[in-house]
Amino acid sequence: MIQPDTQTGQLIVFSGPSGTGKTTVLRGVFERCRVPLVPSVSATTRPPRPGECDGVDYHFLSEEEFHARRRRGEFLECFEVYGGHWYGTLKAEVERALEAGKWVVLEVDVQGALTLMEQHPEAISFFIQPESIEELERRLRGRGTEGEEAVQRRLARARDEIALARRYQFQITNERVDQAVEEICDILNQQAEMQAYAR
Ligand code: ADP
Ligand code: 5GP
Repeated sequence: MIQPDTQTGQLIVFSGPSGTGKTTVLRGVFERCRVPLVPSVSATTRPPRPGECDGVDYHFLSEEEFHARRRRGEFLECFEVYGGHWYGTLKAEVERALEAGKWVVLEVDVQGALTLMEQHPEAISFFIQPESIEELERRLRGRGTEGEEAVQRRLARARDEIALARRYQFQITNERVDQAVEEICDILNQQAEMQAYAR
């Protein structure tokens, strides 16, 4: 395990169109990367998918609870992402991890990512690209978690999101999972070594 700056931790922003493989790739990154990564568990008003656990995949909140927390200023960023569902990064999640010197992984949509990158220019940012829109469509359908209308909504949004990919520090094409994982781990290990060296 590389010990980077254990005083302050590091924010890592991951974004890209829905279905591009972020969750799949991140699973590999968490297993294989040599820096002390932790996920930030977001809050959402979307209902859990089969197999998803509250407090692990998301904090699943009612609309009332989400907006009460929003009014109390508990989110670093929050947006309505798909089909009227809200998603947000909880300040408490991120602060706890950063104070422990962890590298906190924030998997967020493009609106959230741009907000976080503006608030935290020191964040390391990744955009996960699909090989093509056709492949993205195949993956979204193959996952089988969304109905036709939701798939179309996600594809329409994907085009706008891809247009913003240049704003991110690193763009990774997820053609093969193991290759994408390796590229990301190499970048993170290198960043950690640079921080350790600068100390
Ligand atoms: P996201 O988190 O970006 O919405 P997922 O990780 O859920 O995307 O992946 C969407 C679907 O595509 C899943 O069924 C996953 O198994 C599949 N998938 C992910 N990466 C690849 C890849 N490189 N090649 C083929 N299928 C992939
Ligand atoms: P899903 O419903 O597939 O889990 O996620 C849908 C979208 O919401 C994805 O693009 C995901 O990155 C995004 N998302 C998840 N958590 C957050 C969050 O805390 N903030 C923002 N802005 N987007 C999020």
